[in-house]
Amino acid sequence: MAKKVLVIEDNEQNLYLVRFILEKAGYSVLSATDSQEGIDLAGASKPDIILLDIQLPTMDGYAVARRIRAMPDMGNVAIVAVTSYAMPGDREKALAAGCDGYIEKPIDPETFLSTVESNVRSKEGPNGRAP
Ligand code: MN
Repeated sequence: MAKKVLVIEDNEQNLYLVRFILEKAGYSVLSATDSQEGIDLAGASKPDIILLDIQLPTMDGYAVARRIRAMPDMGNVAIVAVTSYAMPGDREKALAAGCDGYIEKPIDPETFLSTVESNVRSKEGPNGRAP
């Protein structure tokens, strides 16, 4: 069955690009353009992977990651932060908030998918994640 990815991203162009790349690779893609909508959809849809923009209006991605991690059954979902901040310490901040990996914008269509997949694999470990 296709893996389900939830993309939480307020920039329509980025969302379009990410959706295009993921759907072409066979993923099932859900999306939300604001923080609360993303949190609600995460709980309702139980995705395999969440791609989380860190720069969101009203609530930043770090707060979103913490909220999602605190939800029932969401302790194990792979969360990959996507950010255009290039400040030292951002990766650590994302990891501390409960993200498993970190991708920098601008998104490079050539490497985006392999970066997502390697982040997810490192989360799953060599034997995969328990269902
Ligand atoms: Mn944004």
